[in-house]
Amino acid sequence: MYQELGICEEVQRFGETILEKLKERFEAVDAVAEYNQLKVLKAMQDNRVSDIHFAGTSGYGYNDLGRDTLEAVYASVFHAEDALVRPQLISGTHALHVALSGNLRPGDELLSPVGKPYDTLEEVIGIRESVGSLKEYGVSYRQVDLLKDGSFDYENIKKAINEKTKLVTIQRSKGYQTRPTFSVESIGELIRFVKSVKPDVICMVDNCYGEFVEEREPMDVGADMMVGSLIKNPGGGLAPIGGYIVGRRDCIERAACRLSAPGLGKEVGASLGLSQSFYQGLFLAPTVVASALKGAIFAANIYESLGFAVVPNGSESRHDIIQAVTFGTPEGVIAFCEGIQAAAPVDSFVTPEPWDMPGYDAQVIMAAGAFVQGASIELSADAPIKPPYAVYFQGGLTWYHAKFGILKSLQRLVEKGLVTLPQFS
Ligand SMILES: *Cc1c(COP(=O)(O)O)cnc(C)c1O
Repeated sequence: MYQELGICEEVQRFGETILEKLKERFEAVDAVAEYNQLKVLKAMQDNRVSDIHFAGTSGYGYNDLGRDTLEAVYASVFHAEDALVRPQLISGTHALHVALSGNLRPGDELLSPVGKPYDTLEEVIGIRESVGSLKEYGVSYRQVDLLKDGSFDYENIKKAINEKTKLVTIQRSKGYQTRPTFSVESIGELIRFVKSVKPDVICMVDNCYGEFVEEREPMDVGADMMVGSLIKNPGGGLAPIGGYIVGRRDCIERAACRLSAPGLGKEVGASLGLSQSFYQGLFLAPTVVASALKGAIFAANIYESLGFAVVPNGSESRHDIIQAVTFGTPEGVIAFCEGIQAAAPVDSFVTPEPWDMPGYDAQVIMAAGAFVQGASIELSADAPIKPPYAVYFQGGLTWYHAKFGILKSLQRLVEKGLVTLPQFS
């Protein structure tokens, strides 16, 4: 079948030799998935999920049992007091905006002790001038960069925390940066430190791409709020839209009043028949995340063995599903993305090209053939066309699709003469 799908024998064989060495890694990934599968199951059983919860509401959405129970399930899974899980949370950025703007007031200060946040948050915060930013509402922002080795700069974090500091935002995943992604353990250390300096500060974790990668989540190590997107890990590929915020009851209430209106809070917001896909997606999420992780580990080992820089490297432990590969040339980045696109179940026949996207200072190429637009839990890749010419890729609803996508990318690089495979006897 691989040959029928355009993978030559040499590429397939090379892939198999890499895979042979990954048995133990994959077993470890499966063990985490097994634990998380049971965690999700227990939350569903404890909250007595039933088919009545799959019915949708319309209009105001009063007494939406499916929505309220789903939020109870999310709270159980992530060990939080309360949750907001809504199709009305348009994206991860929107969920983060609601969590931040709901919990900050004029005169408060927001602190990022882990350096620059995700690109789209720059305008939310007002790091880049933008209409409606937190800055426009009188919320100031402070940032402490990581030390050169990627660790926390405790000394300057302590200095940055002052009487105005209300909320500390910690981004787990590296996003489009080359810093390491933080483990849940190290996020816990940071939260303990922040709370030792100022106990009543709200610690919020941007958990995008991190859900179900480890057995523990940031809520287990002291976070007050955790935020993510349903078209990434916890939607399991089935959620067609949505975001979540879980955390302390008072934090969730303030976020809910921001999402709907003061006085309305969590009581309104129709689920429009989407609840079933949210439940089922959450149920599948642990195994879907495991597939994406196996794909990331496979790719790291393939491209590392061919001499390319990869982050994380082939052997280190993983705390999100993102894999970066530095090709060093635009041609390498483009060929990789063409391979990922050609492997997709949807739009496999189109060729991705770099283009000028709003908000970016260089052309960007994106490869995705997804069932849900922009869903990055599905196999996808993107890269800014600028040095160091690195591609970021993630996702894979099934391990076999992720594997095929990576082989297809390698096939494209080989065909274009950008990579030479080592010879095996
Ligand atoms: C994806 C992502 C976001 C933003 O989510 P969108 O759904 O793209 O708006 C924020 N933070 C991190 C770390 C992300 O990976």
